[in-house]
Amino acid sequence: MEAREHVAPKKPILTPKAIIHQNFGSRACYVVEEVKEAPQTECPGLNIPQMGPCLYRCTLQLPELSVISGTFRKKKDAEQSAAEIAIDKLGICTETIDPTPQEAQESLVSRITFIFSEKFVVCDHPLSGHIRATLWRKGDLCGSIPLSVIAFYDAKLFNLCKCINPEVESNPFLVISYIMRATANLHQFLATSERHLWIRRLSPYPQDIIESLMKEHGSQKCIQVTAVHIPSSVEQSIEAVTLHISSREYYLDIIANELGFEDASNVLISRNLGKASSETRLFFTAPKSYLPDLSSKFPNGKETLYLKGSLNVRASYFAGQDITGDAILASIGYTRKSRDLFYEDVTIRLYYRMLLGKTPGGIYKLSREAMLASELPSRFTSRANWRGSLPRDILCMFCRQHRLSEPLFSFHPIKTTSGLSGSCLKVAESGENVIECVNGFSVTSPKHSDSELFKCEIKLLSRCGDLILLCSPKDCYKKQNDAIQNASLKVLSWLNMCFKSMILPFEQLYETVDNFNIQIYSKNIIRDLLAGQSTHNGQLNGIHCNKFVESIYMNSSYDMLGNIVDSLKIEGPYSGVCPSSGSLPCIRYSVSLAVEGENLKEVIEVCDEFEFEVGVGAVVSYVEEVVMQMSVGQYAYFSTNLLSTELIFAASAGDSVKMLSSLISKKCCMEYEISLIRVAEPPEERMEQALFSPPLSKQRVEFAVQQILESHASTLIDFGCGSGSLLEALLNYPTSLKKMAGVDISQKGLSRAAKVLNSKLVTNSDAGGHLTSIKSVILYEGSITNFGSQLHGFDIGTCLEVIEHMDEDQACLFGDVALSFFRPRILIVSTPNFEYNVVLQKSSPPTQEQEESDEKTLLQSCKFRNHDHKFEWTREQFTQWASDLAARHNYNVEFGGVGGSADVEPGYASQIAVFKRDWKLEDDVLKHADEHHYSIIWEWNSKKE
Ligand code: SAH
Ligand code: MG
Repeated sequence: MEAREHVAPKKPILTPKAIIHQNFGSRACYVVEEVKEAPQTECPGLNIPQMGPCLYRCTLQLPELSVISGTFRKKKDAEQSAAEIAIDKLGICTETIDPTPQEAQESLVSRITFIFSEKFVVCDHPLSGHIRATLWRKGDLCGSIPLSVIAFYDAKLFNLCKCINPEVESNPFLVISYIMRATANLHQFLATSERHLWIRRLSPYPQDIIESLMKEHGSQKCIQVTAVHIPSSVEQSIEAVTLHISSREYYLDIIANELGFEDASNVLISRNLGKASSETRLFFTAPKSYLPDLSSKFPNGKETLYLKGSLNVRASYFAGQDITGDAILASIGYTRKSRDLFYEDVTIRLYYRMLLGKTPGGIYKLSREAMLASELPSRFTSRANWRGSLPRDILCMFCRQHRLSEPLFSFHPIKTTSGLSGSCLKVAESGENVIECVNGFSVTSPKHSDSELFKCEIKLLSRCGDLILLCSPKDCYKKQNDAIQNASLKVLSWLNMCFKSMILPFEQLYETVDNFNIQIYSKNIIRDLLAGQSTHNGQLNGIHCNKFVESIYMNSSYDMLGNIVDSLKIEGPYSGVCPSSGSLPCIRYSVSLAVEGENLKEVIEVCDEFEFEVGVGAVVSYVEEVVMQMSVGQYAYFSTNLLSTELIFAASAGDSVKMLSSLISKKCCMEYEISLIRVAEPPEERMEQALFSPPLSKQRVEFAVQQILESHASTLIDFGCGSGSLLEALLNYPTSLKKMAGVDISQKGLSRAAKVLNSKLVTNSDAGGHLTSIKSVILYEGSITNFGSQLHGFDIGTCLEVIEHMDEDQACLFGDVALSFFRPRILIVSTPNFEYNVVLQKSSPPTQEQEESDEKTLLQSCKFRNHDHKFEWTREQFTQWASDLAARHNYNVEFGGVGGSADVEPGYASQIAVFKRDWKLEDDVLKHADEHHYSIIWEWNSKKE
């Protein structure tokens, strides 16, 4: 018989990029980025840094669509791949015509003929490897190839079957029946078995071919491969198995033995479940009723083949397709790359890592390589603060894992001058401001008439392109990337919530979509997606469903356990350097599994440097709580109840039997050891610098300078001077000041202030003087709630961002002490405007409805700007405090602020009260019972006179 491959549809001569160019020209924009390889399919050590090869991924942006390629070693491959995906998505016609089902049927016959030809057995096709290996099988089985192998290892054949019946995509086992049918026409050439599912060539291959294959094969070694056994009964645990395959055996027979069969005829094979370069598949038992009825003639090509038998819920969830009976997860097979059998170990740990990687939170955890990473952070603030895979990448990965099309991102650039909707409309109409997102924070800034804002809309589509879910957040961002990441995070957060609430009825989850700006177009697909099932069967019976949900629940209930910290001990000296909201603490930790009373401890995960952002839910809540109580250099020890098995196995390096049995025992707990290595930058400062131009602190200084200039003051006290930023800044301005003093209770702040001022003043005088006329600067240690009698008679007092660091009654006391004892002509007090936190802390501004209905709730959900703040006042609270204080002491008070504007909600970022005394002091007023002398920390006097 002549072996000629029938090439059905002619392949296009143009490359995918060329086709995209034809269609879009310069409107197609390719962006290639460097990436690290996805970790969960590789089985890397959780703690071993990978030095993988440099890989590239390409994002192709077209007017209505943006696609992302897989990762490639070469940039140009990534670009071609992105182009190919886009062509596929857009349905651009690249081929002549799809074959009709009739033509496909014929091509199928010639393809099968080709597969069993002499030419094919020596070529480098994965199937050829199988054919060669089956020649070593004994007796009748010699040369017989399991049908499932032919069905699943030849893409061409698969595509032809898809032309016959598109349902093949969702029910790949249909391919087997089409092959059976095609083979029936080839009975002079091929033998099939009705009882067993195999095909064999009738005439033996020529002797010379056999001989050369023998030589080649003889050089191959015996191999040992670790695989994972997933029993169909959920009561039995997942176990590691070792496949011993000698050079004279067909590997599928060995897998069949492991599943309890004599040979591979009854073994079915799933699609590849790992990364494309691996051969990770599930091998499982063909159920009895699966044998297709060959006598029926498949008249319309619309028949469906159901797998009846005991559904393996864990394996089904894992594979996203129905898997029956016991299953083996192994990474083994023939590839185009080499004629030798390719294999990699699949450990229990890898199994759990892959499982974890199916949920949005799990993907995030894996990308952070840390079990202490939260399921998914609640907020995307900025690229710099986001650790681990970015939300958009996680979403793409999620879609790939769940056999969906790549998500579609579309942008709606919005001109600030024209039709904005929702929140932006409101802000834009109210006049001067638009919402922008600088480094992930939203701020109000003066309107630029030409500025563009972005909204991002995300569509999730099924494999076949049906719309499943649409997420259209109302928020606008100044940067396109912020819009994508935040929209992606919205979708992911909803999906993650669904995964975590697996036990809830779907209808209940469905009610939550509005909060996430999500519309669902196919409830069924979503439900199946969450159930980890492909839609092709729909035959899950009640028992299956319940068991199934249970097993998933067990797999993802980690956060629902509500871990409670037990016997917390913090050791080591207090250094005073503490994390606060928004800062980036870096910890070293180890987590162990401990069996109570038995002195048994197994280290699950050790991490030398783990950095996270405080206050955005980037780390599991109980760890954040503990770290917030620590200062740099301290150690914390505590324990919690057990983590989920999935997480423990995914993290731990050993598949130890001991651990497994420990887990079953109820007397286990997790023990944590954490040390706080460092804390990066105070958050408030960082925020003030990043969001305001000039930085808010500079604006406060400028505000003070203005007052000083107007007042012609010659002496100034800075109450709560901290590290001396105001005093230092004042040296740069030409004011009327002659003498300045700073007071603070913090030794550390004062010594920093002394250092800064010293270097500035010494350097400046060496260089020939400074801008100011300042003759003396003194730093005092003391509490500003006490009267330091050395400081009476000063003209002006400043107290910037200090009162919120004291308890409210102390702040009131300071006010009274300042105005009744110090009695400066002018006192300037600034403090954060709590209402402004809505702008600082929400990724989006409130919408109109929100503003009216739950303005309070929104505000209540805001955190203080700095962990050290004891309170933050609203405008009303501040006004009340300042007015009462002024009235008590016969001062006038005026209000102002910096950052934002008084007329635009929610007012200034920093609110400032300026108290003024318009009466003269009498000389005797400074006699007081409770006089107090502050102690001098540092002093400088000008040598020039
Ligand atoms: N005014 C500075 C520092 C603000 S931080 C600036 O604008 O940069 C707040 C400062 O208030 C800290 O340095 C803290 O030590 C100080 N502080 C808090 N309570 C105090 C008190 N009772 N007496 C003096 N200083 C106090
Ligand atoms: Mg403060």
